[in-house]
Amino acid sequence: MRKIVIAGNWKMYKTQAESEEFLQGFLPHLQETPEEREILLCPPFTDLSALSRNLHGSRIQLGAQNVHWAEFGAYTGEISGPMLTEIGVRYVIVGHSERRQYFGETDATVNLRLKGAQKFGLTPILCVGETKQQRDAGETESLIISQLDKGLINVDQENLVIAYEPIWAIGTGDTCETKEANRVIGLIRSQLKNPNVPIQYGGSVKPSNIDEIMAQPEIDGVLVGGASLEPESFARIVNYH
Ligand code: PGA
Repeated sequence: MRKIVIAGNWKMYKTQAESEEFLQGFLPHLQETPEEREILLCPPFTDLSALSRNLHGSRIQLGAQNVHWAEFGAYTGEISGPMLTEIGVRYVIVGHSERRQYFGETDATVNLRLKGAQKFGLTPILCVGETKQQRDAGETESLIISQLDKGLINVDQENLVIAYEPIWAIGTGDTCETKEANRVIGLIRSQLKNPNVPIQYGGSVKPSNIDEIMAQPEIDGVLVGGASLEPESFARIVNYH
């Protein structure tokens, strides 16, 4: 049985006070959430400590939005795995398209970060996905296979989550057709050594499409941006039918 992982990626939204306010609205809804669903919040680094204290004893897991591969060092602006695990963080998003697009992440740095995350006990969520231009040019499959080949060199597939996030569907309201997302996720699975790696869909997931997305047989969860910022909408997503 593959694990279901539902993650909220808050990107660069929410101060510490706002994150605590979110929890007050969100936590009561978890009473309805089936036990086997792993629920994950990935806030900005500055919110992690406070959320970790507030979530002590709760079923919600915390994830960071990036991690460096070294234990420590002269890497201004970076955060290491041990700094995250010390405060109770268990997951980390690696290779999000916004990191690749705006901050120069490459398949090689993504690979270093994945291995670094695992070395220090974090479970990485590797993001892959094509641009609109690549899709229109018929390059979706080859691009994704290349991102996986290069990103996963020497990565332990027993401690890994993958998110398929077509870039043209992120933050646009333009969701990938669910059957198509299912097809690409099936292709991703066919490239893996471990077929039990949970594979999420991400890109304009919202309360109105979550049930249809989660009904697809290959899709094991979602990585949610915008719709994870409001307690009510993220609650509807984690409590999908
Ligand atoms: P979105 O973002 O849900 O706002 O489209 C998804 C993501 O970037 O992970």
